[in-house]
Amino acid sequence: MANKTNSQALQQEANPTALSIPQLRSMFKGQVISSGHSDYDQARTVFYGGIDRRPAVIIRVRNADEVARVISLARETGLPLAVRSGGHSVAGHCVTDGGIVLDLSDMRDLQIDIEGQTAWAEAGLTAGEYTTAAAAHGLATGFGDTGSVGIGGLTLGGGVGYLVRKYGLTIDDLLAADIVTAEGQLLHLDANTNPDLFWAIRGGGGNFGVVTRFQFRLHKVDSVFGGMLFLPATADTIASFMELAEAAPDELSAIANVMPAPPMPFLPAEYHGKLIIMAMLVYTGDVGEGERIIKPFRALATPIADMVKPMQYPEIYPPEQGDYHPIAASRTMFIDRIDHSVAETIISYLQASTGMMAVTQLRALGGAMARVPVDATAFAHRKSHIMVNVAALYERPEEKAIHEAWVTDFAKALEQDDHGAYVNFLGEDGEARIRAAYPGGTWDRLREVKARYDPDNLFRLNQNIPPANGK
Ligand SMILES: Cc1cc2nc3c(=O)[nH]c(=O)nc-3n(C[C@H](O)[C@H](O)[C@H](O)COP(=O)(O)OP(=O)(O)OC[C@H]3O[C@@H](n4cnc5c(N)ncnc54)[C@H](O)[C@@H]3O)c2cc1C
Repeated sequence: MANKTNSQALQQEANPTALSIPQLRSMFKGQVISSGHSDYDQARTVFYGGIDRRPAVIIRVRNADEVARVISLARETGLPLAVRSGGHSVAGHCVTDGGIVLDLSDMRDLQIDIEGQTAWAEAGLTAGEYTTAAAAHGLATGFGDTGSVGIGGLTLGGGVGYLVRKYGLTIDDLLAADIVTAEGQLLHLDANTNPDLFWAIRGGGGNFGVVTRFQFRLHKVDSVFGGMLFLPATADTIASFMELAEAAPDELSAIANVMPAPPMPFLPAEYHGKLIIMAMLVYTGDVGEGERIIKPFRALATPIADMVKPMQYPEIYPPEQGDYHPIAASRTMFIDRIDHSVAETIISYLQASTGMMAVTQLRALGGAMARVPVDATAFAHRKSHIMVNVAALYERPEEKAIHEAWVTDFAKALEQDDHGAYVNFLGEDGEARIRAAYPGGTWDRLREVKARYDPDNLFRLNQNIPPANGK
């Protein structure tokens, strides 16, 4: 990551509004990291590349008391406060220039009640860590498609993953949470205790306080039938894949990534760079039945590679490259259907991209997620059919305008009647798209809750919901 030589920034780091780093070190058991510390560059690096922010201080809190102390530090100094769990925010909201980063990554305790099938998980755990630990007992809670994503951000936005059709969103398994508010108060939330706030954190993101731990329901998920299936991408295979995925029983959750084939050793060289469907399939249930349900997907075309097999659930999260930090231009949306002509649009836009990689991710929704009433949680897209993410990955920041224009046009070409957005995949998309994440009465209700618990908008480095009082 490039070192910023801007003297103003350095000055601010040397004397950030009354922050004394030695004093902070004496106040916290957890690590206090500022510029010059050997961990500083690693601690300010986030998943996405092209984000090079220099916070005044990063505090790796150890417990709820320390969370409250960081919050009061932000209030007293007036410095911007970023909250970080797994660091995968698309907009890089978990790091801030000249401000304070409250880093939860050292809070990773996990207490599993095997009999009761519940778990208390601290907010610094990743989806992969939780999933591996729960699988040791044949249990699982559904998170997303990537193991390194933090359970903090993912859960607070909703959580759409490989168990979404069988068990719903991650928030549909959220039983309770502990949160530290802008006033520094530690509150317990569940359906009966502070129900307004419990409703708001199930989709409303980090707007309402810092969640220190979540209590999740666990399901019996042992081996699943799943993995990657590589098919040639044509308008027919894309449209038929999505038709099958939507018609499949709830036990199957499917994601189709339409993209140029990467030069992976298990993909024949003649496909490298050609458009393929890289599908991720997870059937949660009887393995033989899974094989039967997945058969028609395999029959859509001769598979380029077929890695679908019985597996332990955590195998769905393969090891990741820690130093992979792509720069991305992306848009997220919902659409109602993918017919032949929509599939043709997808192909022609992907072929036209000049990014080093262009991808369209299609997720069939429905199932258990759709059976929860729309107003039961702040995530209100229960009736949406297909989630679409389009992205161009690129190397040189100066190409930004080209790829942003491409995703904007592409998303416009795909637009149908569902104008919603999933908050967890929003980048710097602007206020209208935040509003689209909270349709109908959800927006007003969230603004009321925000006014009650964070009237000064202390928690504003997020997809921000301004308090109803107007601050
Ligand atoms: C590679 C990749 C794959 C993804 N796949 C999926 C997927 O399959 N399904 C899905 O639903 N989403 C997915 N996402 C989106 C992901 O859910 C969001 O980016 C999410 O915000 C990341 O959470 P995090 O804790 O890793 O990120 P962070 O950047 O640490 O947090 C994001 C924001 O959440 C808030 N926050 C985080 N923790 C807390 C907390 N404890 N208390 C209060 N606020 C908090 C803060 O506002 C913070 O800025 C993916 C993202 C990436 C980059």
